Amino acid sequence: MKPFLSRLGASAMELVYPEFANCMGCAEPSGTDVRWLCGECLAKLEECRIDRDRACPRCGAPLKGDICVRCGDWPRDGVNRAAYAFGYQPPVDNIIRNMKYRGVYRLGSFMATDMARLVKELCPDGIDRIVPVPMHPARMRERGKNHAQVIAAALSGETGIPCEEMLVRIKNTRQQAKLTGEERREALKGAFGIREPSEASGKKILLVDDVITTGSTVNECARLLRGAGAMRVYACAFAGEAKGGL
Ligand SMILES: [Zn+2]
Ligand SMILES: [Zn+2]
Repeated sequence: MKPFLSRLGASAMELVYPEFANCMGCAEPSGTDVRWLCGECLAKLEECRIDRDRACPRCGAPLKGDICVRCGDWPRDGVNRAAYAFGYQPPVDNIIRNMKYRGVYRLGSFMATDMARLVKELCPDGIDRIVPVPMHPARMRERGKNHAQVIAAALSGETGIPCEEMLVRIKNTRQQAKLTGEERREALKGAFGIREPSEASGKKILLVDDVITTGSTVNECARLLRGAGAMRVYACAFAGEAKGGL
């Protein structure tokens, strides 16, 4: 389906079914009993929740042993600490797909509610600005909105922390999923720009995205912000590495 049509379809669906006729986790039409998710998906969602007592303090990945195998190669001048609420597995993956590709942007508030709980724990001394991971203008034209911006705005509403689009995406990098960690880092070099470096100076910044996988994207953004004098840069996402995946 062409992006234009899918966008039209999604917005038409929101008009016709303002009370979420389908479960956003499994598409069951009967899934209207618990708002966005059916009872079954809601229970499954809780199983995907990252146990923060057993998560890596730097990258937020669920730990199996004592040492994290995920963030060993994260740059020192990258993200100070990251966290995400859920493992990327059903129904989390479908919630994200519905928001990102089918334009059900109101899911941003649903995501932000769980992320808001993480923010206090992640940044006990407070945050000055919430900054979404930016999207390239060409992709914005395809999709209609930057999903990270939608989540960031909702998180700003939940926490009262101002949201500012400090970064821009200069390079329209190809799909990251197929690349290795090294290739991702290479592809992302020079991919971002900062609008007004003085805005970042001295600030504690929380980067927001839908998913943190290898961390290359948030680390590249963080390097730019810290290079502009940001005091600390945190990253928060709705989902990340699946539970038990490492
Ligand atoms: Zn469901
Ligand atoms: Zn880690």
